[in-house]
Amino acid sequence: MKILRRVDEVTEALEALRGIGLVPTMGAFHEGHLSLFRAARGECDTVVASLFLNPAQFAPEDLERYPRDEDRDVALAEEAGVDFLFVPSVEALYPPGYGTWVEVDGGSVLEGAYRPDHFRGVATICLKLFNIVRPDRAYFGRKDAQQAALVGRLVRDLNLRLRLRVLPTVRDPDGLALSSRNRQLSAAERAAALALPRALAAGAVAETRCEDALAAARSVLAAEPLLEPDYVEIAAFDGHRLLVAAARVGRTRLIDNISLEGEPE
Ligand code: AMP
Repeated sequence: MKILRRVDEVTEALEALRGIGLVPTMGAFHEGHLSLFRAARGECDTVVASLFLNPAQFAPEDLERYPRDEDRDVALAEEAGVDFLFVPSVEALYPPGYGTWVEVDGGSVLEGAYRPDHFRGVATICLKLFNIVRPDRAYFGRKDAQQAALVGRLVRDLNLRLRLRVLPTVRDPDGLALSSRNRQLSAAERAAALALPRALAAGAVAETRCEDALAAARSVLAAEPLLEPDYVEIAAFDGHRLLVAAARVGRTRLIDNISLEGEPE
């Protein structure tokens, strides 16, 4: 696996290559990331992953706390079959004088209501990465369902020539969705965090019984004193109904979702 740090290095390395799959990430890899690398490995001739903690999508205090582990990430990416790992500096992607931002409709509700400018940062970095890497396919996780939906709109609206692949959420055996942020949880906080997937599962069961999915999910969350819900809502992304939720446990914010269409994850 080759590590690339500058945009011109990426251009040069990928120029003659075809069938490129791109997996954008922010590092601190877990099985969720690895599942995307492996899927890309299975479907593409060349697998590129990016590892970039994009300041444009974070509040400053959140960015500071975000876990970083580049050496471990390099080893895991290589093992999972990544050919090129793009690890740019902030200055490489946002040089002095940078001033172009991408706004996608739908970026100010749900996550966007709690994280101002978050999706502007996400859409901007994704478009930049797509232009730098020129992938045929780009891989995203369904765990960040609103992000995947917004990137889908970006690809459609701006006529980008790439196919988006959105893959299932990978969970720990107890149901907690894997997240780089899970590393920030104490044992007690991790136990409390389990109320999030439990609440979503209760909502999905209520839905199959024609009961109130939102009420069922909210009552499970309300019973966990260490968990502070930001929102529990029903969202329709590309016509697909999901129960989506975000909650804070201590200083860590977690998101998760479940399909309300009854198909397996
Ligand atoms: P991140 O590094 O958190 O930005 O995640 C990089 C990509 O991995 C995003 O497309 C996420 O949606 C995806 N991802 C994160 N967690 C999971 C998970 N538990 N299962 C599947 N994909 C995930």
